[in-house]
Amino acid sequence: MTVAIPAVPLGKVTHPMKEVYLDYAATTPVSSEVMSEMLPYFSDVYGNPSSIHKAGEDAAQGVRLARSRVANFLNCDPEEIIFTSGATEGNNSVIKSATKTQVSGEKPHIVISAVEHSSVLEPAKEAADEGLVDLTIIPVQPNGRVDSDLILQSIRPETVLISIMYANNETGVIQPIEEIGKRIAELNKTRKNKIVFHTDAVQAVNYLNCDVKNLDVDIMTLSAHKIYGPKGVGVLLVKKGTLIHPLLVGGGQEYGLRAGTLNTAGIVGIGTAIEQVQNYRAENERMAVVRNYLLDGILSSIDGSFLNGSRENSLPNIANVRFEGVEGESVMMALNDKGFFVSTGSACASESLSPSHVLLAMGLSEIDAHGSVRFSIGRYTEEKDIKELLSVLPEIIDRLRNISGSIKEDIKKLVT
Ligand code: PMP
Repeated sequence: MTVAIPAVPLGKVTHPMKEVYLDYAATTPVSSEVMSEMLPYFSDVYGNPSSIHKAGEDAAQGVRLARSRVANFLNCDPEEIIFTSGATEGNNSVIKSATKTQVSGEKPHIVISAVEHSSVLEPAKEAADEGLVDLTIIPVQPNGRVDSDLILQSIRPETVLISIMYANNETGVIQPIEEIGKRIAELNKTRKNKIVFHTDAVQAVNYLNCDVKNLDVDIMTLSAHKIYGPKGVGVLLVKKGTLIHPLLVGGGQEYGLRAGTLNTAGIVGIGTAIEQVQNYRAENERMAVVRNYLLDGILSSIDGSFLNGSRENSLPNIANVRFEGVEGESVMMALNDKGFFVSTGSACASESLSPSHVLLAMGLSEIDAHGSVRFSIGRYTEEKDIKELLSVLPEIIDRLRNISGSIKEDIKKLVT
């Protein structure tokens, strides 16, 4: 296979035009503070943090500081933090661990919701297909929320894991994690076989309280690149006393729960990023104002546009909108041509043409799901960016509707 050499040097921006980035739920830029704290750990502080000489100890100090920063944010002990290569690894670890959990001769049973990220959904379905677990997928209401009663009703004696995300990456819908956590904790008091409660908090970290004691969560997954940290690093919080089988075995790093030389610079990066999140909490209100400006602007200027989900119980940075009579992909591409970067759902699923499982689970038809676009804003989005978006979007939707209308007319003529 030959690989084309890019015309522009790698790492250089290829868009000569002005760019408006509205895809913060896919990833965020690394903040300058995170970048400057990470940089020495690529070269000056080069030791392996597991080595006991001075070079190793210098690197280990950076890891220790990051571990305590993450623990401080989550209100847990530093020994409960396991660094991973990202949330996909974290989520896979949790599901695959459940397949190995013994329940007095019975097949382990796991419960997830229908709107989980594919890094929970796919390993869970795979394990069920391979006959390793019984899987219950809890449906969601049209507003995207799970009903905690349904989760509780699905529990059996051999249930080992319940995994429900904190906030959805496509719609921003927030799940009642604290309520579910408390109900499971209450049940566990009298159960022989304790249920592990896991939440994927990747999208929630920037905006919601992640105090794991308060939430009654046993395992939580985080990812650095959604919080202005680097790609390829994440955290799995595993509360003391929670049973988890490691996904990666080898060296005894991370308390024997995740083998592999530590990604020192990345770990330092997630430590700084998570500490900064606390300083940006006051930004939440501004974010909601900008998001509402975007949403109100779209809904009032474009007929046949609808919000997927609701503004209540939703992150302040995501608006998932469906446009009648157009393909989300075409809207995304037309906006891209004008320098606006949005998405049609999860970046992780963008290579598949199938409609979003999240929107289908909320009761949308395949056509409506295909007509949806996710706008996600962040720390560096300003009102003027949204104003510019609103100055081009109605015309784009109009044009795409006309094109698809005339194609339909042509097909009708050919068929009749
Ligand atoms: N869970 C959610 C909710 C996400 O949004 C993402 C990233 N799209 C992931 C898991 C996967 O994270 P990572 O990119 O760190 O593997």
